[in-house]
Amino acid sequence: MLKITDLHAEIDGKEILKGLSLSVNAGEVHAIMGPNGAGKSTLGYVLGGRPGYEVTGGAVEFDGQDLLEMAPHERAAAGLFLGFQYPVEIPGVSNVQFLREALNAQRRGRDEKPLSGAEFLKLARGQADALSMDQEMLKRPVNVGFSGGEKKRNEMVQMGIINPKLAILDETDSGLDIDALRVVGDGINRIMRAPDKAVILITHYQRLLDYVKPDFVHVLAGGRIIRSGGAALALELESEGYAGVMA
Ligand code: ADP
Ligand code: MG
Ligand code: MG
Repeated sequence: MLKITDLHAEIDGKEILKGLSLSVNAGEVHAIMGPNGAGKSTLGYVLGGRPGYEVTGGAVEFDGQDLLEMAPHERAAAGLFLGFQYPVEIPGVSNVQFLREALNAQRRGRDEKPLSGAEFLKLARGQADALSMDQEMLKRPVNVGFSGGEKKRNEMVQMGIINPKLAILDETDSGLDIDALRVVGDGINRIMRAPDKAVILITHYQRLLDYVKPDFVHVLAGGRIIRSGGAALALELESEGYAGVMA
């Protein structure tokens, strides 16, 4: 599904990704862990096509297409979903309006018919229910005044509505209490654990991985993947720290 080969990328002329390679097959969950400043978020932004992140070498193939040649909205329409550490707030735009527009823009990009207001509301309510999110939150401006846990829950509702092929979730667990962590973990499993989907979980902590069991764990340090293993590698990192595992 995703094949990253020797990816190099820079911000403001500073090289951050220095030859990163990673392959993700359909049906797999990959966790990426690594020290602060390693380039984890940069990887997510580069895959999403965020302006300012310049790819200077390497290749990324997504579902057989050259991802780096695609505009950000084309990447989304092709099934790539990015969840960020700090979700944006959009005053004046309700969650329902935002989510419906996001979904329908992608549907148009795939030559699918946009959903009507009623069809969309049914879908949105179902996803809010599945994540135990109060229906009232669908009417509120996007993320404005939401707690950290509510933002993450909202992000899972968004992911459920968009129903992507590949989700890249950057520190989705940060700032969550135990109950919210379980809700988010269950949401990821329910929405994304399928033979034709895949997840890349960027996380500092083992605890989310108790809920979403990774098939592979990678250590990203100094702009490349320096070690890969199974779920046990996350436990090893937790007990020995990055320094221990990288030594
Ligand atoms: P991680 O998510 O692994 O903590 P990041 O990808 O956020 O790391 O950052 C990797 C490196 O890129 C860090 O050294 C950071 O300071 C640098 N960096 C990130 N964003 C910018 C930016 N907009 N301008 C300059 N340097 C940046
Ligand atoms: Mg960080
Ligand atoms: Mg980061």
